Amino acid sequence: MAQIIDGKAISQAVKDRVGKEVAELNEKRITPGLAVIIVGADPASLVYVGSKKRACSALGMYSEEHSLPENVSQEELLALVECLNNRSDINGILCQLPLPKHLDEKSVINAISPEKDVDAFHPANVGRIMIGDYDFLPCTPAGIMEMLVASNIDVSGKHCVVIGRSNIVGKPMAMLMLHKNATVTICHSKTKNLSEICRQADILVAAVGRARFVTADMVKPGAVVIDVGMNRPDGILCGDVDFDEVSKVCSSITPVPGGVGPMTIAMLMQNTLTAAKRQNGIV
Ligand code: NAP
Repeated sequence: MAQIIDGKAISQAVKDRVGKEVAELNEKRITPGLAVIIVGADPASLVYVGSKKRACSALGMYSEEHSLPENVSQEELLALVECLNNRSDINGILCQLPLPKHLDEKSVINAISPEKDVDAFHPANVGRIMIGDYDFLPCTPAGIMEMLVASNIDVSGKHCVVIGRSNIVGKPMAMLMLHKNATVTICHSKTKNLSEICRQADILVAAVGRARFVTADMVKPGAVVIDVGMNRPDGILCGDVDFDEVSKVCSSITPVPGGVGPMTIAMLMQNTLTAAKRQNGIV
């Protein structure tokens, strides 16, 4: 049976670290502030926003939620972003994605000030990640790197295979592993011989969005398997990896729930702290 990489415990360690620094800032009368924008009432998004708010308050940060109706106009949404950009008590801004179809996600992301872009989705931050000179990393890939370090898994020289090439997970994940000297292969829906490529992975990251997509025959014995997926095929949360079978083959694996998910929120807290420090001239 594989070692379970415990995202709850590792994320708690990150939050403890962040909480200590927030307490030091509080003594200087600085309270990191996060604004979360949510459009409509998608149940999964509401759950994520609730978790973000609870994490902020547990760590001594300020947070506010802006719930906009499903039919909000692009202009109203951009006006809110502009207002939040100009507020000194708000250090981080994020807009919960996906947005309803009539809204242009790209222009909303572009409107968030790069200094307050705690999701690290703004093109300026994406570019900085490419060249390895960044303040913020996207929360999910950053959380995965943190988990690997905490589990003493060195990516240097390893063959890392990432299934998925989204701007939010797959591409930045590959880039962070590359920065740490891994040899990286990115796979997607047009990849030929996917199973064969996956079987070459020392570290396999699944960010596909398909329940139990990665099966045991796609995994090299002894590999590390990171499951990013959050799927609810029968209303019950499960990952992109067939955990029961794959865990018999691999050396370490992240569970769903309790793996990558908690790390994502912890890294958001880390980014909000970083934003507050930068905006207050604390390096
Ligand atoms: P996404 O934007 O839908 O991207 C999915 C990727 O998977 C795409 O690149 C797609 O390829 C690829 N793909 C789809 N079917 C495939 C197939 N049959 N073979 C190979 N590749 C295939 O999803 P995402 O935003 O990256 O999220 C991925 C999963 O992670 C979702 O379940 C999401 O809910 C979850 N997630 C979890 C967290 C967390 O905190 N745990 C955070 C973010 C996302 P193409 O590009 O060719 O279409």
